[in-house]
Amino acid sequence: MNVLVYGDGQLAQMMYLAGTPLGITVSAVDVKTNTVVHPVSKEALAIDLDNAIKQADALTVEFEHVPETLLQQASATGKLMPNIDSILVGADRVREKQLLESHNIPNCRHIVVTDLTMLDECVEQLGDKLIIKSSRDGYDGYGQWRLQDVSQLPDLKQQLASLDLQKVPLVVEQMVTFERELSLIGVRTVYGDIKVYPLAENLHHKGQLHVSVAPACDISPELQKQAKDIFTTLADALDYVGVLAVEMFQCGDQLLVNELAPRVHNSGHWSIEGADVSQFESHLRALNALPIGSIEAQKKSAMVNIIGCDDLDLKMLGIAECHFHWYGKTVREKRKMGHITVTANSYRELGNKLELLTKYVPAEHFPMLMNEAEKLKQIDG
Ligand code: ATP
Ligand code: MG
Repeated sequence: MNVLVYGDGQLAQMMYLAGTPLGITVSAVDVKTNTVVHPVSKEALAIDLDNAIKQADALTVEFEHVPETLLQQASATGKLMPNIDSILVGADRVREKQLLESHNIPNCRHIVVTDLTMLDECVEQLGDKLIIKSSRDGYDGYGQWRLQDVSQLPDLKQQLASLDLQKVPLVVEQMVTFERELSLIGVRTVYGDIKVYPLAENLHHKGQLHVSVAPACDISPELQKQAKDIFTTLADALDYVGVLAVEMFQCGDQLLVNELAPRVHNSGHWSIEGADVSQFESHLRALNALPIGSIEAQKKSAMVNIIGCDDLDLKMLGIAECHFHWYGKTVREKRKMGHITVTANSYRELGNKLELLTKYVPAEHFPMLMNEAEKLKQIDG
């Protein structure tokens, strides 16, 4: 079985690693040059894109911002999973909001802005604590601006003045005060069967994911069901095949959907060691019409992103159940370089292990780690 992934970053790499034991060969497309590359070494393979598409049993994406001409070409083969509409919804916040609204799925109050003069109306209707998001090409907090109070409005308008909002509108959202951020990752097969992982709790810093804990602690069966129902509504509506991630905010006992990712997701990396089958393998199984089996989490896991640094001490591997993943990239500020997953039998033990981990990583690049370790240590169970 051959799978061709559009995008050649760490998600393609981890799909490749998951495919190997199943005899599934995963190749990647560098979408800047349209060359077919090895997902780990990134070296060009001796095959052009047209032939790689022909030889593939399934085509998929590792990010939603693949040029639309490439998606159209992939879709025309009938082998693109998830389908092109699902990918385009994930790539465009306006379409994403329309999907949520049309299925009555709770989400943040928002206004689609196609002209800067509409920002005054946004403040009137939504208040003056706003998150302004470009409808396309945003990730890791890029393409986002924040308004803390109305006095910043003139300055904000100036910052946004050069954008062509007719072409790429803004989605202006009310800043939500939530208790925590959660995500649900699940998989839907070609037969419409759905399985979901337990909810993960995600800790962000400056708009970027730093730590995920799964299963998130203190999740009632009702909340997990609410999340699964949202997932099912969306995945069925999209006739989705593969792994889909839904990012949510928890406000009391209600979940608000923040955004969708039509692909494997950073907040699911813990599943490599923490679940019966990883999100990467689940995705490949779905693409190749294989059964999904059990995707239960037997352990508690914490996944810690390595962001913008490479000075780590691999002696961390002396911590029991500590796993290191390196993406082979050159260091840049805010760049995801790799991740570490620690698993344990209880949250308290997980907290103890994260505390040990702080000795092996540069504190300034891991601003959430110590606090989270302390928090987990206090949890019974
Ligand atoms: P990523 O690629 O990491 O998912 P992104 O750039 O696609 O991020 P969002 O997920 O929409 O953007 O926002 C990034 C983070 O900003 C969220 O995880 C959350 O912490 C915060 N955020 C976004 N929207 C809101 C909101 N309406 N109210 C409060 N916080 C928000
Ligand atoms: Mg997000």
